[in-house]
Amino acid sequence: MNASHFPFVPGTTPITVVGGEGSYLFTSDGRRILDACGGAIVSNIGHGRPEIGEAAAAALNQGAYVVPLWATEARLRLVDRLTSSWLPKSLNRCLFTSGGSEAVDVAIRVARQHHVATGQTQRWKVLGREVSYHGATLSTLSVGNHDRRRASLEPLLMELPKISPSDADSVAKTIEAEDPATIAAIIVEPVSGASGGALVPPDDYLGRLRSLCDEHGILLIADEVMTGFGRTGRRFGVDHSETIPDLLVAGKGLGGGYVPAGGVFAGDKVVEPLSVAGATVMYYTFSGSDIVCAVSDRVLQIMQDEDLVNRAATMGSRLNQLLHDALADHPNVADVRGRGLLQGVELVSPTSTGGELTTKVVAEALSRDCAIYPAGSAPIPDALLFGPPFVCTDKELEQMVDICAQSIDAAVASLTP
Ligand code: PLP
Repeated sequence: MNASHFPFVPGTTPITVVGGEGSYLFTSDGRRILDACGGAIVSNIGHGRPEIGEAAAAALNQGAYVVPLWATEARLRLVDRLTSSWLPKSLNRCLFTSGGSEAVDVAIRVARQHHVATGQTQRWKVLGREVSYHGATLSTLSVGNHDRRRASLEPLLMELPKISPSDADSVAKTIEAEDPATIAAIIVEPVSGASGGALVPPDDYLGRLRSLCDEHGILLIADEVMTGFGRTGRRFGVDHSETIPDLLVAGKGLGGGYVPAGGVFAGDKVVEPLSVAGATVMYYTFSGSDIVCAVSDRVLQIMQDEDLVNRAATMGSRLNQLLHDALADHPNVADVRGRGLLQGVELVSPTSTGGELTTKVVAEALSRDCAIYPAGSAPIPDALLFGPPFVCTDKELEQMVDICAQSIDAAVASLTP
């Protein structure tokens, strides 16, 4: 097969993957790659599950397309599972999308529509954090702050204020400075993934944000696209601080990498005013198709049957310990942190200011048959992200940490003048 026209931007030759099982990917040239990051922190239940193919085939064989506003059995089953077993009780309204960016975009729109419907037309600003990533569309890049992913696009982005990722007192000051009555929502990742390299905020940060939002009539959006559905060792990242957001956004692990799934979950408080005002939320044509809903439902059933959220907590502690033991004293490692099976290694090097070290380490690891996710955005230019499938074994964790340590040494050596 000729892959020469495959990369949209020429210059790279991607590996061709022909299958996978558990924590491994199989390539067309016979390699077995240890997937330490579940693609983009997506493959929560592991690769190659035959049950998923069966659920997908049944949904396709059902055979009808209907717009996302119509009910289908697959949609209703997924809503039922989400509201009965996964979501905080007060978040009982579900809207599906085809991924995280779409879901964040919907949450932004719903926040604005909610305020318009309640007569607060002056509220429009959505405040994101200085260290954050919320997606690659123009609206989601605007609320996020990932410098390399925003680069060159700035004239097309909305200029929106940013808040401190760690200091709630500073957030309170920004809210005052912006005029609280103009703020529609604050959006926050419970653990900053792609930008922060699994940066965990202080324990009281999310709770303080909740109080500030309540005090000023601002909606709190939790972006759980990366942290949701067990990744941090609890069902959702907000569960660690017992904070209930007004809107919870998810993606990645919901479909487990098998289908493009995303979701926006809200309570009646947020959506009832839309109903009273006669407003609707415009859908994307392919949102919540039967195959996406049926597979997502099966993914979540597997998570429940195999107790995989608790497994993510146990294996996450092990991974954190292994990373600490191997890397905490390394001169090019600034920090090891994370929650559950979302762990990050912050790198430092005087010769890397724009992620060069990260790129090198990831390439070195791949040459050793291990996939690690490149993270980092100023003021954290270099970071590695680990997010293996929840079914990973102790041996696989040891192997990925071992390869990571070797790869950092090799990358540092190659960058040293
Ligand atoms: N939000 C967060 C926290 C993410 O990590 C990502 C993707 O990495 C997104 C949103 C965007 O999701 P997607 O790439 O599925 O559009």
